[in-house]
Formats: sequence, C-alpha cells, structure tokens
Amino acid sequence: MTLAYTKESITGITLHYLFVPLPHTLSDAKVLQGKQKALDGVFMTCTEIRTSEGRTGEGYTYALRAGGRSQYELAKELVPTLMGEDPNQIGYLWDRMHWAANTLGENGLINQTISAFDTALWDLKAKRARLPLSHLLGCFHDRVGCYNTTAGYLTFPIEDVVKKARELLNAGMGGIKLKVGQPDAEADIYRVRTLRKELGPKVPIMLDANQQWDLQTALEVGKAIEDCHPTWLEEPLNAYDIEGHRELTHTLQIPIGTGEMLSAPSDLLRYIDASAVNLIMPDAPRIGGITPFLKVLDRAREKHLMVAPHFVMEMHLPLAAAYSGKVWVEHIDWLETLFRESVTIRNGAMMVPDRIGSGFTFSQEKLAEYRLDRTVFE
Ligand SMILES: [Mg+2]
Repeated sequence: MTLAYTKESITGITLHYLFVPLPHTLSDAKVLQGKQKALDGVFMTCTEIRTSEGRTGEGYTYALRAGGRSQYELAKELVPTLMGEDPNQIGYLWDRMHWAANTLGENGLINQTISAFDTALWDLKAKRARLPLSHLLGCFHDRVGCYNTTAGYLTFPIEDVVKKARELLNAGMGGIKLKVGQPDAEADIYRVRTLRKELGPKVPIMLDANQQWDLQTALEVGKAIEDCHPTWLEEPLNAYDIEGHRELTHTLQIPIGTGEMLSAPSDLLRYIDASAVNLIMPDAPRIGGITPFLKVLDRAREKHLMVAPHFVMEMHLPLAAAYSGKVWVEHIDWLETLFRESVTIRNGAMMVPDRIGSGFTFSQEKLAEYRLDRTVFE
C-alpha cells in the first residue's frame, strides 16, 4: 500500500523578545582591548510555530550587546512569508525568508533572524517524524566531548580559573577554554603556562584570542606556547583573514580554528575550501539556522576537519551528534534556565538527548520572566 503525505500548514506563530541576564559580567579580549563593553546578558528572539496538525516547533536566535531588537523587528516582518505554508518544506521556506529581506544582503541580520524560524521548523520536523533531532539528521554519536568556556574569561584571575577548572573537571567536564588576546601578550603566556602546569599534561586546554592579534603576534605567542599543547587556538586573527589563518595553520603545531563571527555560510565554506583552518567553528543561530549548518558540516566532513560549534550548547548538541568526525560542544550555561531540560555531562562528554524534537523546550515561566516584548500571529 502506498502511503500519501498529508500536507501540514502553519497556522500561528508567537515571537518572544527576551533579555537573559548573566550571573556575572564577563570580559574577553575585545573588552580588554577597549573595543566592546563587558557582557551582561543575551538578547533572544524565540519562536513558537503552530501547525494544522496541532504541533508546536520552538526555535531561537540571539544577539550579544546590540542588535537583538532589530532581529525581533525583522522576525515580525518575515512571519507573513511562513503563515499558511507547509512547515516541512524547510528549504523552500528558508529561501522565501531570505528573498523577503534580500536587500539586507547575504549575511548578518537576515541570516540571524531566519535562524529563529529555521530552528523551529527542524524541531517541528523531528516531532512529526517522532525522532530526536540528532536521529533525524543521521546521528553518529550518543555523547559528544564538551569543554567549558565560562570559567576562563579574562575577568577572572588565573588562580580563580584554576580553582573553577578543577571543580568542573571533577564534575565530568572534558576540557577548559582559556581566553587570551590581552594587550600584554606576556600576561597571556603566563596564564596559559600556569593553567597547563596546574591541570597537568593531559587535560584538553583550548585557547581563544577573540580576533585580537595580528599575524606577527599570533605567530610569536603561538610559538611561545606550543609546548603547552593546547587542543586548539581559536580566532587568533580577524574573522575574515583567511590568508592569515592559513599561514598560522601551516606554520604552528597548534590546531587553528575560527568561524563563530561569520554569518554567511559561504564564508565558512571558503575557510574549509582554502584549507585555512584545522577546525571550523560554526554558530547555527548566526548563519541562518540548521539548514545552512548542515551544509557546513558536509563540507567539513569532506576535508576531515574537527568541528566545534560556538555557544548555544542546547541547539548544537544534537547537530554535533550528526557529525561523523571529531567534534566538541562548548559548555556555556548562560541559557540553561530558559529550558525545562538541562544537559547531562559525564566522563568528559555531553549526553545527546533521546527526547523527540530538539530535546530542549522553553520554560514558559522563564519566557515570561525574561520577556521584553511578545507578538502573536494567528
Ligand atoms: Mg570564541
């Protein structure tokens, strides 16, 4: 017997505009170099997409420091391109949203805003298939290595970083990221050496310069800390300096990575095609959601690259599980309170949820608590 597909349609969309405060104000190299204010919270546009079959898909995008309100306002303008359409035609809807705001360009605000819908559409599709999102996408892993980022900010004295790192490692964390890129490179080198000495030779230590070095500095500091064997050096240079990254990748023994600041999927693909990095670090909300993220994974797979998605661990965990190669998830707990479920960390890895859909659902109480605005479309 041939089974016919029953068309589903989008009947309603709710947009929530939130500010999720951080427990501590945080500084990375961009702040210490005087370019940005310290980070005190995350702006989010969260979507709930309802369908004719009674399902609801949840998705979101985010902005740090500025731009959150713009994402929310643009999201309102994109809603009419989705209403009444079949949510299972995700590629078609992605293009429709992109064409609707085509004069904004091929990256940045438009892709970040589309993510809020695209991620909800994939959640819906997994729910329709009655599968965990990881399984809908091909699932290679039931656990993914994870490392913590929030303990290693430049805000904290190195003694505090060491203490917190030990606590996290004892609780099952798989590695520790240390921020570098201060105006005084010697201070960076001291912190890296201290952390390596205190944690011993085996603990994975990741370094992140948040784009604050020039090529010469990156080469000098990189060579000075090679014997500390960091797992990688992230964003040593400007996010668009493909040639510079390529030179570092082919000169230093430390694996080089970048990608979180790129909002055009084509920019990430260019890095991969140019063999300019050892690991690629895409951010699904920044590049237009899961649809373009999967294209990046495919290309990374062809080149056997390591993948380490940036931030939003709740979104990236099932996506990381769909990557065949070496992959890490970044443990940043800033959004943890927004979801009813939380991640489970054991023996250096995050467990991939077996719950149907994305695996993480909004707490309605927290949506209300963090909400700055809301619009309901029926
Ligand atoms: Mg980073």
